[in-house]
Amino acid sequence: MSPRRFFVGGNWKMNGDKKSLGDLINTLNTAQLHPDTEVVCGAPAIYLDFARSNLDASIGVAAQNCYKVSKGAFTGEISPAMIKDCGVEWVILGHSERRHVFGENDELIGQKVAHALESGLGVIACIGEKLDEREAGITEKVVFAQTQAIADNVKDWSKVVLAYEPVWAIGTGKTASPQQAQEVHDKLRQWMKANVSEEVADSVRIIYGGSVTGGTCKELGSQDDVDGFLVGGASLKPEFVDIINARA
Ligand code: PGA
Repeated sequence: MSPRRFFVGGNWKMNGDKKSLGDLINTLNTAQLHPDTEVVCGAPAIYLDFARSNLDASIGVAAQNCYKVSKGAFTGEISPAMIKDCGVEWVILGHSERRHVFGENDELIGQKVAHALESGLGVIACIGEKLDEREAGITEKVVFAQTQAIADNVKDWSKVVLAYEPVWAIGTGKTASPQQAQEVHDKLRQWMKANVSEEVADSVRIIYGGSVTGGTCKELGSQDDVDGFLVGGASLKPEFVDIINARA
């Protein structure tokens, strides 16, 4: 089991309204959450203020995206400065839906990572291969290249959590097996050791995402290099509490 502080992020994506998210927030605020687990909820931009104002202070909040500069004529975008102004501490960047639905590339994601970190936000940086890439045997090549584009823009790794999310496992109900997750996490940590530093490789949290449920979280979370989860669908359900407490 990893010595790093367990980190469980919820990614609400474009789901919920004030009523349902308010109910979820109430469930989280009143649940017994393992005190050693860091919990962060990724709220839609329009509900960031609502989430931060209503969630217990022990639970972090993340934006699901941001732009690469602090202000200006960028209709529809939000900046790290605005996210911070709402008291929000984190941002998810490079999520597969940003990459594959909205066409974000490694270069833009890298610029966003750099600016979010310079602005003082913590970054949950996402990487992961598509099914055809796994089947072609190029998983490592793909995730190393994505990680390189992120690493080129990071000075302080203490503010970064790396989320390995195989695209074929996101929202599909097909969770990676604990062995599949551990294998890639281990390779990523070796990559960090060779390309960043041994200290960063030992301390950076590498979390797994892709159809994590209350049923799959315990075995996944007991793998040596799995330091937590990024949870989509199940983060909107009371079951999220069981996932937070996977190590309890
Ligand atoms: P999922 O989403 O848990 O619904 O597969 C994970 C994610 O996209 O972060």
